[in-house]
Parts: sequence; C-alpha cells; structure tokens
Amino acid sequence: MQHLSVLLVEDDPGDAGLIKYTLKYDQTDNQLAWVESFSALEQFFAEQQAKPDVILLDLNLPDSTGIETVHACKRLSRSTPIVVLTGHDDTEFALQALEAGAQDYLAKGSLDADSLSRTMRYAISRAKLEERLILSEERMAAAIEGGKLGVWDWLFDRNEFVFSDRWLATVGFKSDSPDLPGSADEWLERIHPEERPSFELAVERHLSGELPNYQCEFRLRHRDGHWVWLFESGHIIERDANGKPIRMVGVQQDISERKAMEERLTHLAMRDELTGALNRRSFMNIADREYGRIKRQKDYSVGILMLDLDKFKQVNDTYGHAAGDEVLKRFSHVVTEQLRENDVFARLGGEEFAVLLPHTEQEGVKKAAEKLRAAVEAQSIDIEEAQVIQVTTSIGVTMMHPDDERPDGGLARADKALYDAKHSGRNRCCVNIYNA
Ligand code: GH3
Ligand code: MG
Ligand code: MG
Repeated sequence: MQHLSVLLVEDDPGDAGLIKYTLKYDQTDNQLAWVESFSALEQFFAEQQAKPDVILLDLNLPDSTGIETVHACKRLSRSTPIVVLTGHDDTEFALQALEAGAQDYLAKGSLDADSLSRTMRYAISRAKLEERLILSEERMAAAIEGGKLGVWDWLFDRNEFVFSDRWLATVGFKSDSPDLPGSADEWLERIHPEERPSFELAVERHLSGELPNYQCEFRLRHRDGHWVWLFESGHIIERDANGKPIRMVGVQQDISERKAMEERLTHLAMRDELTGALNRRSFMNIADREYGRIKRQKDYSVGILMLDLDKFKQVNDTYGHAAGDEVLKRFSHVVTEQLRENDVFARLGGEEFAVLLPHTEQEGVKKAAEKLRAAVEAQSIDIEEAQVIQVTTSIGVTMMHPDDERPDGGLARADKALYDAKHSGRNRCCVNIYNA
C-alpha cells in the first residue's frame, strides 16, 4: 500500500500522541505532520508545496471550534479529504461534520491502527469521487450556461415535466406562473400542429430503441401566444424492471433566430429581388411537381399563362430605367392581387412573367387571363414628378397536358400563344390548346 502524508490538526498533546502512536502501528510508513491550531494549519498550507493526502481534524482548537472548523478547512483546500476526530461517539455531531464537507469521522476513544488506516484511505477515495462529481457538475453548468440551454426532465409515470428556469423563460413562464401548464399532455398540446407528427416520431423512435437519442426541432406556443422555435435533444435515463421508460432528460435550445435566418435565405433564394415574385428556378420546380400530378391524376388540370408587358422598352426610353423598375413592381402587385392563394406567379426574366393555375379548368383559365389583362390595363402607375404611366400586357394561355414531354412543352405552347397575342395587336389574351 502506498504511504500517505497525513496532517494532524490537534491541540491536545495527549490526543496527538495517541494518534501518532496508533499510526506507527500501521505498516505503511505514513508521514505525519502535526499542527496545533487553525492558524498553524493555514500557515502549513501557505508554506507547503504539496498538499497532504488527508487531514485528521480535531474540532476543538484554540482558534476555531465546531462545524465551522470543517467549513474553514474546506475553504483552504476544497479537494483535501478530512477525517474529523471527535472526543466521544456523537453520531449527530459527526453527521453534521459530513454535511459540512468532511469525508469521515473517528471517535478518539476507539482508535486502532486498522480502522484509522481504513478510514483515511476511504476518505481519500471518497474525496476523489466527490471532486470528480463537482468537476463534472461545474463543467455541465458551464456548458448549459454557455450554450444557453434549457434543461427538461420528462417523468412518464407521473405524466409530468420538470423544467429549468431558462427552459421556462424561453417560452415566457416562471416556475411560479399561475397559468403554468401542469401535466405533460398540456405541454405537448402547445407544440405546433405542423411539427407534432415529427415530434411524436422522434420520441417514438427513441423509446422503441431505434435511435440512441431523441432529437427534434419544433415550434412551441409562447405564453404570449407567438411561436418559439426550439431544438430539443435527450434520452431515457431510467427504466422500470420491465424496461418501460420512466424518465427522459434533455436540453433545449432556442433556435428562433436561426430559423428566421433560414426563412429569409430560402425566401431570397426562391424569389426575384425586384418584384418579390418567384424566380424562374422555383417556378420550374413547381411546374415539374404539377406536371407529375397531371400525369398521375386524370381529372386534374392546370392552366399556364405567359405574360409580357407591351412596348416596355418605350417605358424605359421615355421615363428612365428606375421608372421601368417601378412599373414592374406595380405590375407584379396588380397581378398577385388578382390571383388566388394557390396560384403561382413568377418572373421568368426581364418583363416576362408566368402564372400557373392549379385545379383550374380551361374556361376558368381563360377567364383568369382576361381578368389579369383588364386589371393591368386599368392600373395607373404614379412615378416621380406627378407623371402617370399606363401599361398593358399580352398573355398567352394554355393548359398543361399529360402528353407534353415535359412541363416545358406547356410553357412553349403558352409562348406561342403570347407571340400570337403580340402579333395580333397586343393587350389581349390568345389561347393555344394541345392537340395530338
Ligand atoms: P413588346 O410589346 O413586343 O413586348 O415590346 P417590348 O418593348 O416590351 O419588348 P422588348 O423585348 O423589345 O423590350 C423589353 C424591355 O424590357 C427591354 C429591357 O430593357 C426591359 N427590361 C428588361 N428587364 C428590365 C428590368 O429589370 N427593369 C427595367 N426597367 N427594364 C427591363
Ligand atoms: Mg414586352
Ligand atoms: Mg419581352
């Protein structure tokens, strides 16, 4: 066995002698240093390079008495194990010493070499474990604080959640809020309906053992009513004898900012900057999707409109490019106003636009085209210096057809119809329907 460096803090020379005597009987050649007061203990720590392996601490010193001596000793060195020496076998008092941070205690009256040695070694290993626990707790606290994490605890058998203050604050609650939801079910009802299925799947896949962790991004209703985007992850930490989960613990991160950023980026990537209309790429994606549906579903029909502003070059030439831009914006606004929510409006480039009309029969598509044409014609656009511009648009009309080779087939047909509209005098709709 490794020998120990023992620091004895004892003002009674008789008791100190007894300890020294007892230690000698330990076979392990322990080193003993002896101080007689708390101030001498402080000095010892100040002067010595190496800390002792263990302190044997009398709690009845000339300059410090009682439990406070343990506290003071802990303040000197948090990690050095302490064995308290009590004058008599007072369990109550000894337990208080343990509460204060001592690792063990011994009654001076019943000392023998074996129990002294065992107690010291046990105190040392306990102190090591405690130190590891403290370090890991400190590390965890720093991670939780630094990562701005909320902590949650899901108690399945009690249908209850326990949350950290930060978790609650993220969704506007405090632990003593009078309207704090009580049961786990009440909390789960606050999840946004769109993410509910993916939340349930993520939990299920972890509970069933398919995935080692539960992870999910979802919106939760804030106390004010708005939605907060959260990222949550966790895992089961306790099961009953039958393997049924009892408790799951995890962390929460507020990802609202990241989600808002993602939405802005997606918006930017999908839309034309000047007019806010969808860009060509997103239009083609949607056209592909609609074409797929046309192929699968016999009774489904989609209209395609191709729009091009009439004599737009003249607008630029007469009023300047900035006025031309303003006209494009107003035009897009007017068209969007006329369309239904499911209709798709895109700027394909320059002053060329396209519309998809899902779920619309041929007659409806023709009517929609005429409505757009008329609305554009009716619009007066104010530009600087009290000038008013009026523009018109020509529109090519067709229906998407399952025998088209690709969605582009329909677009080409609409383009031909647009060409006809231009060549028959502009400001009109021309129709070109598929025939085999
Ligand atoms: P048409 O009736 O035959 O369509 O005649 P048009 O003058 O509209 O057609 P043309 O294709 O000759 O001219 C299109 C003009 O649109 C030329 C181009 O400078 C202008 N244009 C394209 N994109 C923009 C833009 O983003 N802003 C502005 N201000 N003008 C644009
Ligand atoms: Mg034009
Ligand atoms: Mg053009």
